[in-house]
Amino acid sequence: MPSSASLDVFYRYKIQNKLSDSETIREYFYTLDAKRNGYLENSEFRKFLTGLFSNKNKPYPLSNNEVEKIFNIFCEKKNQKLYLNDFNNLWLKFVIPTVRPRTALVIVDVQNDFIDGTMAISKCPSGQDGSEVIPCINELIRSVPFDAIVYTYDWHPEDHCSFIENVHKRKLAPNSPTRKNVQVNDIVIFENYPDIEQKLWPAHCIQGSYGSELHPDLILIDEKSDPFRRSVIKTYKGVKSDIDSYSAFFDNCKLNETNLNSDLKKLGINELYVCGLAGDVCVAATCNDALDLGYRVVFIEDGCRGIIVEDIERQKMKLSNRNSVIARSNQVSNMVTGRDRRPELAFITLNLKN
Ligand SMILES: [Zn+2]
Repeated sequence: MPSSASLDVFYRYKIQNKLSDSETIREYFYTLDAKRNGYLENSEFRKFLTGLFSNKNKPYPLSNNEVEKIFNIFCEKKNQKLYLNDFNNLWLKFVIPTVRPRTALVIVDVQNDFIDGTMAISKCPSGQDGSEVIPCINELIRSVPFDAIVYTYDWHPEDHCSFIENVHKRKLAPNSPTRKNVQVNDIVIFENYPDIEQKLWPAHCIQGSYGSELHPDLILIDEKSDPFRRSVIKTYKGVKSDIDSYSAFFDNCKLNETNLNSDLKKLGINELYVCGLAGDVCVAATCNDALDLGYRVVFIEDGCRGIIVEDIERQKMKLSNRNSVIARSNQVSNMVTGRDRRPELAFITLNLKN
């Protein structure tokens, strides 16, 4: 039986070659089938998973229950025997996304208004400085070979429903939580519009304004001259007057979808590294929608700043309960290159609940 160290060598070798070649899969299956009986039993399968989920040869712990669940998903005959056919299926659906994920860095709303403009995070209860995310994100852009870089923009028309300045332009619904003397940060429901609670903010990120531009210090890559040949995706959200959009995928009622999911799908991307502003609002909403859509999601905690400290912690806990990885930016490169392989992300692929 190969040790987990030799498994790691195998993966690295195969990454450079034909990882999805059926001969590769077959060869590996018979390496694992120590008893030579034509199927893998639970104990052989466990050793395989131990080698798969590791960080530079140090395995991540897996519970018996987790191993059993994965084993059962792929044992088509449900007889505790994993045959070559099953292993083929497992390899394509489970091993390849783990060993060689297709990744995008999603940079949420690193725009002037959130850093030193009308909605500067530094003026919010957390008092955090939004500009601090920039060196961290730039370092990721400079050094990590993602397959794509996504820049999202909060991008509102002047009459947007989230602006306190516009609150008098729409009638409040009888069930609106606030109806009189409405202030910034109050929550309202408008009449004749989607029946949803709307938090009110100062006017911000008005389409084409200086405040809506990405911060000038953020590196904006050019697809043509990028040394990693990464694709660039730009996504504009909150573009309709009567509905807000925290997530970069959908508006807050999921009535309209942005270009993001379809552009990522076209590039075959399955793993997102999400950072930006604000961690507890738009970054968290983007992560949650990405999980709903089946993406493997990594929240880069030092690449985010937020509005309310307790909310940031609450969102991180919620994401972690959904099998997102909460990572530091210096861990990202090893994850993107398949050296640090987290079991949680594979559980997302299989829709395994905690
Ligand atoms: Zn907004």
